[in-house]
Amino acid sequence: TAVTLRLAAQRREVDQLLAPLRLSRADLERVQALMRREMELGLGCQTNANASVRMLPTYVRSTPDGTERGEFLALDLGGTNFRVLVVRVAQDSIHIASEVYVIPTTIMQGPGEALFDHIIECIMDFQLKQDLMEHVLPLGFTFSFPCQQLGLDKAVLLSWTKGFSATGCVGQDVVQLLQEAAQRKQHLGLKVVAVVNDTVGTMMSCGYDDPNCEIGLIVGTGTNACYMEEMKNVGTVKGEQGRMCINMEWGAFGDNGCLDDIFTDFDRLVDKKTINAGKQRFEKLISGMYLGEIVRHILLALVEKQLLFRGKPCPKLQTKDIFPTKFLSTIEIPWAGDGDGDGGANGARGSDGLALRQVQAILQDLELQASFEDSMLVREVCQTVSTRAAHLCAAGLAAVVEKMRENRGLAQLAVTVGVDGTLYKMHPHFSQHLQHMLQELAPNCTVTFLQSEDGSGKGAALVAAVACRGT
Ligand code: ADP
Repeated sequence: TAVTLRLAAQRREVDQLLAPLRLSRADLERVQALMRREMELGLGCQTNANASVRMLPTYVRSTPDGTERGEFLALDLGGTNFRVLVVRVAQDSIHIASEVYVIPTTIMQGPGEALFDHIIECIMDFQLKQDLMEHVLPLGFTFSFPCQQLGLDKAVLLSWTKGFSATGCVGQDVVQLLQEAAQRKQHLGLKVVAVVNDTVGTMMSCGYDDPNCEIGLIVGTGTNACYMEEMKNVGTVKGEQGRMCINMEWGAFGDNGCLDDIFTDFDRLVDKKTINAGKQRFEKLISGMYLGEIVRHILLALVEKQLLFRGKPCPKLQTKDIFPTKFLSTIEIPWAGDGDGDGGANGARGSDGLALRQVQAILQDLELQASFEDSMLVREVCQTVSTRAAHLCAAGLAAVVEKMRENRGLAQLAVTVGVDGTLYKMHPHFSQHLQHMLQELAPNCTVTFLQSEDGSGKGAALVAAVACRGT
């Protein structure tokens, strides 16, 4: 019984340490209400300087209606790779051909002219390969950096992110920069008709298959969302008629301090070690770049308290980014013994034995000797962190769908969310937790999720196609 007492005491300590990460229904309702308030602030005319959610107008006024046709060029800059695509939109199908081009770090971080010259060279190479040199095709540009958009084809770069720092670009219209480079390279016949964010591309590409798709969501390296808002509510653009897609830039939610009581000591440690401390606070609770880091800090705290690995020091675990978010996906793979209430006593059986060995292999690579109980605790930590991420994402989306429902004066709203991002697509539970909590928080909305395929490329072409519709 001394053992039983010790185990019970340990259990209490673990629960105490993880409690701040377990958000109650009331916590999530508060996050939802705060997001709603920040949305209203961001949409307003003057007050949006104080809003952490920027609510940037995109000048995209409608989703595809199926009548779009034609051949379009698309560029995708700001994801993992730079790509050039040709997208052929026919009655019943969309055909895409694309090439990936490398952007060397020297170009990402050199003079802006060199970056845009390089992009034009890639376009010319692509057109040559695709036998499209003689064609002047409308071009859609997925440019996934924060921009103040002044028109569908006019986007002023607000700041670089993701390792880019080319000089002379911030404060400039990226379409202009591209066109100037085209002139320098004697590439006549470049016709940029639209600049879009990757969330918008995702919404548009899913919107082609499902006309109810009026929300775009990304949960990958970072997180962001966009949705169709009523023009009359958009204080930052003239005009009252119809709707416009708003790029929320919701990753920055909380940068004004409104989420401070949600952040735990672990979140503060993670934030402090980033290149943009104090910024993108909501994103740092949710996206792939950070979840592994949060887990790593919790594991270190558990070791410190002698609750894990028998308190043996773990030098390797001190290294930043040594525990990537893909580990959460592997560690959280469902076990056959899950949920049958016997506390994992089946752990050594059949496929569960295999799953357990995978967890132990990950920990072994980190030079950690994990007992069965250690592996179970690491798994519980991962589950706690990924569930919180999914629930916070649900609270954000609940604010969005409820606003859309009220905008339209409906008792019930049916809407589809187009989603992209490796975390959403690969994690074994993220999407279920997100959908389940969203249903709880927005009971009057029926929300369907549709995974986008190549949202950035196809979406940019579709924005161009919608812009050219009927012209
Ligand atoms: P981006 O958002 O830059 O377009 P992705 O959507 O591919 O890129 O997301 C990359 C992120 O996904 C990385 O932060 C990485 O940690 C995370 N990731 C990669 N593989 C997995 C996985 N199997 N499970 C969960 N997250 C993953």
